[in-house]
Amino acid sequence: MYRAENYPSKVLQNAVEAISSLPGIGSRSALRLALHLLKQDKEDLLRLSSSIAALGSEIHYCKECKMVSDSDLCQICSSPKRDRNLICVVESVRDVMSIEATNSYNGLYHVLGGIISPINGVSPSDLNIRELLARLKPGMEIILALSGDVEGETTSFYIYRQIEAYGVKVSTLARGLGFGDDLEYADSLTLGRSIEARRPFKP
Ligand SMILES: [Zn+2]
Repeated sequence: MYRAENYPSKVLQNAVEAISSLPGIGSRSALRLALHLLKQDKEDLLRLSSSIAALGSEIHYCKECKMVSDSDLCQICSSPKRDRNLICVVESVRDVMSIEATNSYNGLYHVLGGIISPINGVSPSDLNIRELLARLKPGMEIILALSGDVEGETTSFYIYRQIEAYGVKVSTLARGLGFGDDLEYADSLTLGRSIEARRPFKP
């Protein structure tokens, strides 16, 4: 981080500090970005800042599946074309977007909002697991589509233990994906196939 006395302007320093709070952005990159923004039109800057501010003030989480949404119920949960007996459990909003991009899944989702990780201080109570249990009905199929690494497996196992008594069928992705691969990095075709070829979850 550049020291305060190196900055010619407090406004610039504040911008650099705010930008460098983003993941993967160090103070050098933050300064470069801030200087780039400095050269932009005022209207462009306003559009950028208001779209960021809207993330904090205007976005909702779907009351059913916890996906980001512009309304109380997301487009997927409110669609009459979706199979309501199928719920795909994923870690993040990004995973829903990846699976939707495959065009090979027609059920609903449930976004956990993270993954069980003792190292990062994330316990089951930090995730949307209770909300998942509230959606379960006998005869449903629940697909555990979490990553294949240790934390993903731990979370899948934990959820399996929670839901097995509900009379639901529990399945998991066929791993065309390598061990430890994130859904994020899977190409659309592979991910689509691994959903279609899903198999019963074996604890
Ligand atoms: Zn929803």
